[in-house]
Amino acid sequence: MRILLANPRGFCAGVERAIDIVQCAIKKHGAPVYVHHEVVHNKFVVDGLKAKGAIFVEKMTEVPLGEVVIFSAHGVSQAVRRYSQKIGSIIYDATCPLVTKVHKEVARKQKQNIQVILIGHKGHPEVEGTLGQSSEGQSIQLVESVADVENLALDDMPLPLSYTTQTTLSVDDTGQIVQALVKKFPKIQAPRKNDICYATQNRQDAVKSLMQEADMLLVLGSNNSSNSNRLREIADKMHKNAYLIDTADEIKTSWLAAVNTIGVTAGASAPEVLVRAVIDYLYDYGATEVVEVSGALENVHFPVPKPLR
Ligand code: SF4
Repeated sequence: MRILLANPRGFCAGVERAIDIVQCAIKKHGAPVYVHHEVVHNKFVVDGLKAKGAIFVEKMTEVPLGEVVIFSAHGVSQAVRRYSQKIGSIIYDATCPLVTKVHKEVARKQKQNIQVILIGHKGHPEVEGTLGQSSEGQSIQLVESVADVENLALDDMPLPLSYTTQTTLSVDDTGQIVQALVKKFPKIQAPRKNDICYATQNRQDAVKSLMQEADMLLVLGSNNSSNSNRLREIADKMHKNAYLIDTADEIKTSWLAAVNTIGVTAGASAPEVLVRAVIDYLYDYGATEVVEVSGALENVHFPVPKPLR
C-alpha cells in the first residue's frame, strides 16, 4: 500500500493563533481561563487545553465575574461581547482575523443600508457569530442551499443586496449557491475578496488532486469541524470511500482491504501529530511507501494580541 499525504493539510494560521492565545493566557493569568465554545473544533486539541486549565463554556452565564475569557476562532456575536464586558471579563479575542474581516464587512454593509445574505450552515458557531453582528433593526438572511435561494421572497429583499459566506464552506457548493443568487438578484454585490479562506480553499484543492490517484481517503478531524467534513465530501463526490477520524485508533482494517493507494489529510484544526500516528498505523498494517504530494505553499501567520506577546 502507498500513502499519499495531502499538501497543505492540518493547522491553519487562525487555528495556530487561537491555540497560542489560550496557552499564553494560562501562562500569564494562571488557570483557569474560560473559553467561549471549543476554541477550535478538534477533540485532541480541546482535551489538551482542558488538561492545562482551560474551561470551555457554551454560555457566558457559566463564567464567574471578572475572569479571563477567550472567544473561539469562530468568532462571537456582539451580544456575547457585550455580556463579557458587562461581567468584567478580561477578554482575549481568538476570532480568526479572516472571520473578523467578514464581521467588519457585514457591519459596513449594514451601515450603508445594504441587506446582507449569508451563505453558511445554520447552527455553526461562526454563522451564529456573523448573524450576531446585525445592528438593531437590521437582519442578515441565512441561506444554506440553492433551494434556499429559490425560496427567498423578492419582496422581503429590499435592494440593494450583498452576500457574504462562512469561511469554511465547500468551494464548489458555494459557487453554485452564488450562481443562483446572481441569477435571481443580478445586481447583488459580491464581497471585495472571497470569504472562503485560503486554508479551506488550499486543503480542498489538495484533496481534489490527491484523489485522482488515491482509492480511499482518511481525513483527520472532528465531527463538528466544518472544513474537515468538506474534505471528506470531496472524496464522496468522486465516488471514493472516505472516513473522518479523530485518531488512528478509529481506523478499521476492513476499510483498507482492497486499497492500494490511500490518501491522508487533516482538517485545519487537526495537529500533525495525529497524521504521524495514522502513518505509523498504516506502516504497521503493511504500507510500504509514503509520498508527500506537492501543493500550494502557505506562509500566513497571525500574531497573538499584543498583551499576550
Ligand atoms: S479555517 Fe480559515 S477562517 Fe478558519 S481559522 Fe483557519 S484560516 Fe481562519
